[in-house]
Amino acid sequence: MRSLAEPFTPYGWAPSTAELARRAGLDPIEILRFDGNVPPLPLPSSRPAAVAAELARVNEYPHGGYPHIHEAIADYAGVEPENVVLGAGADDLIMLVARAYAGAGDTVAVPPSPTYPLFRIAAQLAGADVGDHDPVLTFVCRPENPTGTLDAIPDARPLAVDEAYFEYADDPGAVGLIDDDVVVIRTFSKVFALAGARIGYALASREIAAELNARQSPAPVSTLSVALALAALASPPDVRPVIEERERLAAELRNLGYVPVPSRANFVYVPVEDPQTVGEQLLASGCVVRVFPEAIRISVRDQEDDDLVLAALAGEPREQHRRTRHVRATAETTLRVRLALDGASRVRVATGAGLYDHFLEQLAFHAGFDLVLDGSGDLETGDHHTAEDAAIALGEALDRALGDRKGIARYGDATVVMDDARASAAVDLGGRRHAKVEIDPDPGLATHTLASFADNARLALHVESAGDDAHHVAEAAFKATGRALRAAIRSESDVLPSTKGVM
Ligand code: PMP
Repeated sequence: MRSLAEPFTPYGWAPSTAELARRAGLDPIEILRFDGNVPPLPLPSSRPAAVAAELARVNEYPHGGYPHIHEAIADYAGVEPENVVLGAGADDLIMLVARAYAGAGDTVAVPPSPTYPLFRIAAQLAGADVGDHDPVLTFVCRPENPTGTLDAIPDARPLAVDEAYFEYADDPGAVGLIDDDVVVIRTFSKVFALAGARIGYALASREIAAELNARQSPAPVSTLSVALALAALASPPDVRPVIEERERLAAELRNLGYVPVPSRANFVYVPVEDPQTVGEQLLASGCVVRVFPEAIRISVRDQEDDDLVLAALAGEPREQHRRTRHVRATAETTLRVRLALDGASRVRVATGAGLYDHFLEQLAFHAGFDLVLDGSGDLETGDHHTAEDAAIALGEALDRALGDRKGIARYGDATVVMDDARASAAVDLGGRRHAKVEIDPDPGLATHTLASFADNARLALHVESAGDDAHHVAEAAFKATGRALRAAIRSESDVLPSTKGVM
């Protein structure tokens, strides 16, 4: 085998979540990764249905290539399909560009450290040296990883511009320069939340794109990944909430005395005294950040998760008592629950199943929980699966958060009226499942979802709700169930209910 230039360090992956959990002595579900610069959940478009048609012909090669995705990427990027090169992630395209331009005896310019390590690796694997003297190719990263900064596009040519975080930057990027010897490299791993699918693309002049396509391996991207990327492109996500959350996280970090570098990406780079030690302290509370020689890098997740890393940085121990995280994924839905029983009714349910999101919010609010239940389901088939799975996921989370159920009041009941509607609910948290739910009139799935919730929470639930308006009748039933739960989960003895042993 041909030897590589010294010193060659291969790309190093961060440890698995299971391994990090083992090191921290935590359940893997408690590990929050702030080190991958990826969204915390897949997009609603990434469900088994998106790949079902491709699975039915997965025995076949993608004969004729992938004209649809070239067209869809071209539309998205404002170029022609002939300007598009497909690859197995931006990484694959960085490697392709490096080997297409550089070889033994050549020099490739890469950004100064700290930067994304693959530019150097790709140059070295192509047999080239890394340096600034008369380079045959120059790599830049806009926005830069790990700092999040957006430097001006240099004059060097040929130039490869890594725009993995382009969508977060609010900048036109370098696509307008593709006819000036510039290759733009982008990915579906970040804003489109498809890192596991390994798909990205390059944009270049027709001639360069044709040359790059000729030098690419045959169909390096799977038909399944192409199907996921096409589904994602059909409804690109809104990046504004991520940008707002990035700015909030940066502001909170400044309140804690840190000086994060202003970021144009979905992460913040935070210089710290002893990054290694800070990284280890954060891991002890389940928060995994990326450690650099002079800083830590924190990926933006969402407010609730980011608050955990902020609390850990402030030295607050992570509250573990009567709270849980839970993910439920089926063929139809992907749902995530963050639940704290002794909360302050800070509640957000966002699955897209409008009315039933609202009912579960009412249940959690009146139970006094802190709850975030988000994710997505196959709403195109109606809200049945999504509403049902959301109720199941909440039930499962409640069961976990209750732990061994020792020392709780166990029984609770409540009556709630809403105008014409009157609901009464009684619960027993003794662990025997039974649901007797009468909601009349039912707006559709209220009876079924409440019963599913009770079954999966391992509780007995009796509800009677009646009136004129179906919405009121159902809402009163969920509120009454919440109120009954609030009474039943109360700690009544010195024996603190423990979640240990069941997590
Ligand atoms: N470029 C940069 C700057 C990155 O941060 C990453 C991901 N860590 C990549 C490229 C690789 O992206 P992909 O998942 O598409 O290979």
